[in-house]
Amino acid sequence: MKKIVISIDVEQDCPPMLDTMRGIEEGLPKLMELFRQEGIKATFFTTGKVAELYPEAISAISEQGHELGCHGYAHERFDHINKEKAMEAISMAKSVLDDLGDVESFRAPNLKFPVSYVGILQDNGFTVDSSIAKYKPPFPRKTYKTGRIIRLPATITSSFIRLPLSMTLPLFDRMNDPVLFVHPWEFVDMSQTPIRYDCKFNTGETALNNLRAIIRHFKSKDYDFLRIREMAEYLV
Ligand SMILES: [Zn+2]
Repeated sequence: MKKIVISIDVEQDCPPMLDTMRGIEEGLPKLMELFRQEGIKATFFTTGKVAELYPEAISAISEQGHELGCHGYAHERFDHINKEKAMEAISMAKSVLDDLGDVESFRAPNLKFPVSYVGILQDNGFTVDSSIAKYKPPFPRKTYKTGRIIRLPATITSSFIRLPLSMTLPLFDRMNDPVLFVHPWEFVDMSQTPIRYDCKFNTGETALNNLRAIIRHFKSKDYDFLRIREMAEYLV
């Protein structure tokens, strides 16, 4: 059976351009409802800060059978901070998130995480890192294990799901075991917000309808929807 992961990076709106939380307040409930209706499980990489501000919304993620993962503390760019600051951010985020779920998977903001920092994840009890992407240098093709950490690349950038389905569905069919990711703020209408075009086109209803159609497309092809930890174990 073919397998797919739907992952969600749960953060402030369109960082670093905004610091509003419409995605958490308006977008996240829509996603939770969509996954409930479709009967699928997903993985939510959440920042420590969002978890502190919205503990009930974030604990609902694990309660509904999804996987809760970590997306840094304040959506800091790990490729822009030194190792000491990185250790501080990761351990702060982990201790907040540990109260709300069983957290073993990590994804760095912007999918950029220095290889020399991977040991910090291991020291903090993580087993999976999805801070790499097939479409970003160094273009990792495969999932691999380093120490106790399984590194699993994201397949395609998030705004891809907002493109017309006639364009994206045939491309999805050519991906092996895809790891897709989206953000809650993409499911809020951002068309009137002064942010980059790629962050706001087709946000809101179109994004939600597209994601529903994409999920149904994969279901029609008998894909198994896995949490990222399950996919990591399956691939190594
Ligand atoms: Zn992010």
